[in-house]
Amino acid sequence: MICILLGSPGSGKGTQAKRLSAKYGLQHIATGDIFRAEIAKQTELGKKAQEYLKSGKLVPDKVVVEMVAGMIRPSGKYLLDGFPRTLDQAQGLTQILQGAGAAVDLVVYLRLAQSEALRRMTSRRVCSTCGEVYNTVYRQPKQNGICDLDGGKVVQREDDQDATAQKRLMVFEDLTQPLVAYYRGDQLLQEVDANQTPDAVEAELAKLIDAVGAKP
Ligand code: AMP
Repeated sequence: MICILLGSPGSGKGTQAKRLSAKYGLQHIATGDIFRAEIAKQTELGKKAQEYLKSGKLVPDKVVVEMVAGMIRPSGKYLLDGFPRTLDQAQGLTQILQGAGAAVDLVVYLRLAQSEALRRMTSRRVCSTCGEVYNTVYRQPKQNGICDLDGGKVVQREDDQDATAQKRLMVFEDLTQPLVAYYRGDQLLQEVDANQTPDAVEAELAKLIDAVGAKP
């Protein structure tokens, strides 16, 4: 079972991917989270990726595709969040899966207006240690600036600040949005309105995943 969540930054991919991967026993591959962890550890990969993340640009396709190729196992069940992000990555993924005797089962596009995506990104806050996501409008930690789960410091991601967030939305429009047409051509694409509560979006996604035969 291979499911891809497509959507602009701020469309709720990460939140939904966490919920659904737990519900269906899928391995959650979130390339953005992987890069942030590698940067925090200052590994070779992290050093390669950090300037791209800081400026809101995409890490080069070759680096990303190689990284994901190293994670996919033939009989694995995956929920891909933030990958692929370009046509070259989508083609790279097709090749990786062919090599593993697998194929994409479902692609869901979380549709959201840019203005709302920007609002969500700039009000997002995250725990600097465990990555738990908060929001200055909808979900503040119980104690100001302190994560409810592990007491870590709750901060704004550097790339969620207004100018970089806007840049990431432009990158999405230019490079990732074309994937919607790419997967629509393969008849794999479904769309969900992301401008609903997280529970309502999750319910719609669960129906789509059920329909391709995954078992909770
Ligand atoms: P995200 O957490 O998905 O919003 O990703 C944060 C940043 O990580 C992006 O702005 C890119 O710099 C980088 N990144 C994540 N996934 C990819 C990808 N598939 N291709 C290239 N860059 C990526």
